[in-house]
Amino acid sequence: METIRAVRGMHDTLPDAVSGWRRLERVAERVLESYGYREIRFPLVEKTELFERTIGKLTDIVSKEMYTFADRNGERLTLRPEGTAGCVRAGIEHGLLQGVAQRLWYVGPMFRHERPQKARFRQFHQVGAEAFGLPGPDIDAELIALSARLWRELQIDGLRLEINNLGDAQTRQRYRGKLVDYFEAYVQALNEDERERLARNPLRILDSKNPALKAIIEGAPTLDAFLDGGSREHFAELRRMLDHIGVLHVVNPRLVRGLDYYGGTVFEWASTRLGAQGAVCAGGRYDTLVETIGGKPTPAIGFALGIERLLELIGSGPAPAGEPHAYLVVAEAAAQARALQLAEQLRDRLPQLRLVVHCGKGTVKSQFKKADRSGAWLALVLGEEELRAETITIKPLRGQGEQRTVAWEAAATELGRSLGF
Ligand code: ATP
Ligand code: MG
Repeated sequence: METIRAVRGMHDTLPDAVSGWRRLERVAERVLESYGYREIRFPLVEKTELFERTIGKLTDIVSKEMYTFADRNGERLTLRPEGTAGCVRAGIEHGLLQGVAQRLWYVGPMFRHERPQKARFRQFHQVGAEAFGLPGPDIDAELIALSARLWRELQIDGLRLEINNLGDAQTRQRYRGKLVDYFEAYVQALNEDERERLARNPLRILDSKNPALKAIIEGAPTLDAFLDGGSREHFAELRRMLDHIGVLHVVNPRLVRGLDYYGGTVFEWASTRLGAQGAVCAGGRYDTLVETIGGKPTPAIGFALGIERLLELIGSGPAPAGEPHAYLVVAEAAAQARALQLAEQLRDRLPQLRLVVHCGKGTVKSQFKKADRSGAWLALVLGEEELRAETITIKPLRGQGEQRTVAWEAAATELGRSLGF
C-alpha cells in the first residue's frame, strides 16, 4: 500500500530535536515573564473575517497564504497565519485591554500556504509578545530591549536590528502616491507579483526579495520626508532610549511590514546566515488594530519571532536526547565525598540539571573519555587545587565557551547560565 506522508511544508519534531525547542521556549518564557508579560492561549482557528479585517485583504497573507475552509455548518474559518489578531480578539472579548497597561505573550504554530523552502514552512512556530495601552516610545524601547536580551540568553550573536517609523495612515497614503509614481517608471523591471503589488499595495514592493529590483528599491523615495512632527519626535526618542540601554540599531528608511495594521515604529532582527530568509523577529506598533476589531482605541506594540529560524542559528543545544548536561570529573581521589555533596547541592538548586558524577576512581584522562562518551555538554572538574581553594572548574566539551573556575557558592548560578536554564 502507498505510504501516507506528512503534509508538504509541515514538519515533525523528533525526540532528538525536542530539547532544543524546549530550551528556547523555556528561555523565552523566563525572559518575557521577567518583563511582566503573561501568557495567553487562544484557538488555532478563528473566523476568516478576523484576519481579513486586520491583516488586510490586499496583503500576501490574506490574498494567497491562508488555510481557509468552510466547516460543517458552512462557517468560514481560517487556521491562524499569525498571533496578533487572535490575541487582540481574545483580549477584547475578555476585557483584558480596558483601562490598564497589559503585557501578553504566546507561543504556538502558525499556518501559511507559502512555497516551502529553507526556513520557510507551511506550519511554523512563533513566540509573540504584545503590549497594550502604552502609546510612548518607552514601551517600544523596552520591547526591543527584551528581544535583545533573548538573543543574549540564547547565545545567538550576529543579529542586526533595523528600525523605521511608518507614520500614521495619512502619511502612508501620501507616501503611497509618491512611491507609485516612482515605480511606474520602472514597470518593465517588475515581475508579475510586483506589478500587482504596485496596483494594490505599493509599500510591499520595498520588501521584495527580487535581486533585479535591489538597486531600484535603493533609489526609491523614503517615507521620512512625509512624517508628521509627532512621529518624528517619537522615533528620535526611541533611538535615544535604545542608545541609552545600549541596543545597537540601524535606521532603514525602507523597512516596511507585510501586514496592514502596522503604523509608527516598526523593527526587524535579521541574520545574514539564513540567506533570503534572514528575518528572525519582526514587530511594530499597531495603534488602530484594537478599534478595527471593535474594541476601544488602544495603542499597542508587539513582535513575533520565528522559532525554526532561531533554532537554525543556535544549532543543536546542550544535552539533546536526554544526555547529561554535565559530567563531574573527580581528579583527586580524596575529593570523592566532596564531589557527591556538591552534586547534591547543584541538583537542589537546579532541578532540571542532568548531572553524572564519576564513580569508581580512574585517571583524569579516562574520566574525561567517559565524560565525552556520555554526551555531556560540560565537564566539571574537582581536583587538588579546586578542593583547596573551594572552587570548581567548568570546561565546555561541546559548543563554544571558555574554561573557567568558580567558587562553590557560585557554581549553580554559573552552570544555569551556561546551560540556558
Ligand atoms: P518574511 O519576510 O520572511 O516572509 P514575514 O514578514 O512574513 O517574513 P512575519 O509575519 O513578520 O514574517 O512573522 C515574524 C517571523 O516569523 C518572521 O521574522 C520569521 O522568522 C517567521 N516566519 C514567518 N513566516 C514563516 C514561514 N513561512 N516559515 C518559517 N518562519 C516564518
Ligand atoms: Mg512572509
